Amino acid sequence: MYNSFLIKYGEIGLKGDNRHIFEDALAKRIRTVLTRIDGDFEVRKTRGRIYVFCSGDWNFDETVDRLSHVFGIVGICPVVIYESCGIEQLREHMVEYLNEEHPNCTSTFKVKARRVDKEYPLTSMEVDAELGEAILMANPDMRVDVHNPEIVFDVEIREEIYIYSKVIPGPGGMPVGTAGRAMLLLSGGIDSPVAGWMVAKRGVTIDAVYFHAPPYTSDRAKQKVVDLAKIVAQYTGPIRLHIVNFTDIQLYIYDQCPHEELTIIMRRYMMRIAEHFAVENGDMGLVTGESIGQVASQTMHSLLCTNAVCELPVYRPLIGFDKNDIVDISRKIGAYDTSILPYEDCCTIFVAKHPVTKPQLKIIERSETKLKEKIDDLMATAIETAELVIAK
Ligand code: ATP
Ligand code: MG
Repeated sequence: MYNSFLIKYGEIGLKGDNRHIFEDALAKRIRTVLTRIDGDFEVRKTRGRIYVFCSGDWNFDETVDRLSHVFGIVGICPVVIYESCGIEQLREHMVEYLNEEHPNCTSTFKVKARRVDKEYPLTSMEVDAELGEAILMANPDMRVDVHNPEIVFDVEIREEIYIYSKVIPGPGGMPVGTAGRAMLLLSGGIDSPVAGWMVAKRGVTIDAVYFHAPPYTSDRAKQKVVDLAKIVAQYTGPIRLHIVNFTDIQLYIYDQCPHEELTIIMRRYMMRIAEHFAVENGDMGLVTGESIGQVASQTMHSLLCTNAVCELPVYRPLIGFDKNDIVDISRKIGAYDTSILPYEDCCTIFVAKHPVTKPQLKIIERSETKLKEKIDDLMATAIETAELVIAK
C-alpha cells in the first residue's frame, strides 16, 4: 500500500542558517544507504521536509531497516500517496487506508489536514471534519479526541494527497559528516563499538585503530574487530580501520617494567600510536569505551595516567554508564552477539595478577624511562607496518 516515506528530523531543524547544510547531509546519507538495496528511490527535500519516494522492486522492511541506521532521522512515517481528487473520492481513500492500516481499531483519533495546495476547494478544517466523519461511519468503535488522540491521521494536500498515521522511531542524533572526525580505539569488547556509535550519532565521522598481538592473538580475534567495525559502519559510513601489530612493544614492556603497571603503560603506548594516526587522518579527538571504575585501568587515577600522553582531547562517551546500560545499546545497534565472541584480546594476555588501581603518574613515567633504548624504533615499526582496512 505504501509508496513513500516522510522523514522526520528533530534537532537539525533548529540550526538556523546552517539548516540546509544539515538537511543536505541527511538527504545525501539517506541516498547512500538506499543504494545498497533493491528498488528505485528518490529523496526529495521540500520546504523543511524530506520525502523518500519508492518504486521498482523495493521491499518495505528492508527500506525501513536501512533508514533506521541513518543518524538525524527521528521518525520514519510510511506514507500513502493518492492522486489529487475531490472530497468524495478522498473520503473513500481515507476509509480504504483505515481498513488497511488500522483494522478493527478502537482507538481515539483526530484528522489533521494541511492544505499546501491553496487552490483546493475545502479548507483544512473542512477536510478534517469530512474525513473524521468518514472514519466514524466506517468504524463506529473509534472516537474523536482532538486533545489527546491515540492516532493522528495526517493528510497533506499537495499536487497529490499524502496520508500517514504511523511513526517508526529513527536513531535520532545528527547526520554523519556534519561534525568533524575522531579516532576510535576499537577493541573486540562490548564498550568501544558503543562509544564509537555514540560519538558518530552526534555527526562525527569515525576512523578507528585496533591493536593486536599476533601470535598471542589470533586471526579470528582480528576478524571479530573488523566485523565490529563493519557493524558500526552501517550507521557511520565506511570506517578507515588501522590494525597495529603491538606484539613487540608489549613484550618489551613486559620485559622491562613492573608487571602491575603493564596495563597502564601499554594503554599509554596505544594512546600515543592512536594519536599518531589521528593526526594523520585529520581527526580532532580520540574516542575510547572507558567508564569510571569498570576495571583497574579505568579508575580516575588510571585515566589520568593514560590521558597524560595525549594532546588531542580524549572523548569517553560511556564515562558515567553502568555496564547494563552499555549492553542495552550494544544489543540495540546489533553489535552484542559479535562483541561477546570469546576471542583473546592483547590486553588480557599480558595482564598482571594484581594490576595497580591507583597508579601515580610520576612513577609510571619513571618506569617508562626503562624503555628508552628501543621504544622509539618499536613504535616507528608498529606505525609503518600497520594495515589499513576499509570497513563498510
Ligand atoms: P571494550 O569493551 O571496549 O574492550 P573494556 O571494558 O574491555 O572495553 P579495556 O580493555 O580496559 O576495557 O579497554 C578500555 C578502552 O581502551 C576500550 O574501550 C578501547 O577504547 C581501548 N582499547 C582496549 N584494548 C584495545 C585494543 N586492543 N585496540 C584498540 N583499543 C583498545
Ligand atoms: Mg577490552
